[in-house]
Amino acid sequence: MNPQAPSGRDAPPAGPLWPLDGWISPTALKSFNRCPYRTRLRYLEKIPEPKTFSVHLSKGRITHDLLALSARRIVQGLGDMDDDWFYQNAYRRLPWREFPSDEARAGHARNIVEWIGWVLRYLDRTADFLRIEKGGHRELVWGSDGARLTLATRPDLVLLRTSDDGEQFIEFIDYKTGRQRTDDIAPVFMRYALTEFLKGFVPDTRSVRMQFTWLWLETGEIDVTDLSLDAAMAAWHALTGDIERLMVEREWPAQPSIGCNYCPYNGFACHAFAEMESASETY
Ligand code: SF4
Repeated sequence: MNPQAPSGRDAPPAGPLWPLDGWISPTALKSFNRCPYRTRLRYLEKIPEPKTFSVHLSKGRITHDLLALSARRIVQGLGDMDDDWFYQNAYRRLPWREFPSDEARAGHARNIVEWIGWVLRYLDRTADFLRIEKGGHRELVWGSDGARLTLATRPDLVLLRTSDDGEQFIEFIDYKTGRQRTDDIAPVFMRYALTEFLKGFVPDTRSVRMQFTWLWLETGEIDVTDLSLDAAMAAWHALTGDIERLMVEREWPAQPSIGCNYCPYNGFACHAFAEMESASETY
């Protein structure tokens, strides 16, 4: 099924509800906040995204894979692979036909090597590496009729660290390509979904300090979100408002924005962006 994108001329057709026993990931909730229609196409209608190459996504995937491998080597007490090994691996995985020249392809491979080196210098090698690129989920009883939603998440890395003054704390690490834009959704999902898992490592998950660290690969900047219980509870309150809106949504309106340039449904299953650009009035 390929639902018609709602335009400003027609009343949007009522769509399906988010399933009461459905899974919600940070990506799904962020997608809903940006464009409900895109969320409907991907998660409810399950319209396959056309396969297009994105150098940005490709570099992100390769970097994540090589950093996961590096983290496993740290756990095993093995040394880091050298830059040339990372370069050769990255270069091989970047498909040659997608680049205008060999130098362009090599340049992107060199970016990946730089990103990996920067992350490996950041990581606290004295920490316990609790979780490497492994998903987790937790049920959430929702509404008065006892519906059970599942909140799912996948951290890049979870560390149990000890600060200089001897305090143990949990660090969730997320490697990010793309624009530097933090939010509370991924950090709070992670704390909520992994609390049972963390109970196996710290005496009291309520009092232990937790932080979510965003490592921005392209700019080399670091953002830290406090995930102490009070901060997480405050953010959770706002986030449940987003989930509430998702659960009652029926119309899934298209929300054209600059983000349409990166939407796989643009011009394929959704024409709202093109309509917006050709409309005389300003949106
Ligand atoms: S093209 Fe834009 S408006 Fe249409 S689904 Fe994608 S993000 Fe939403």
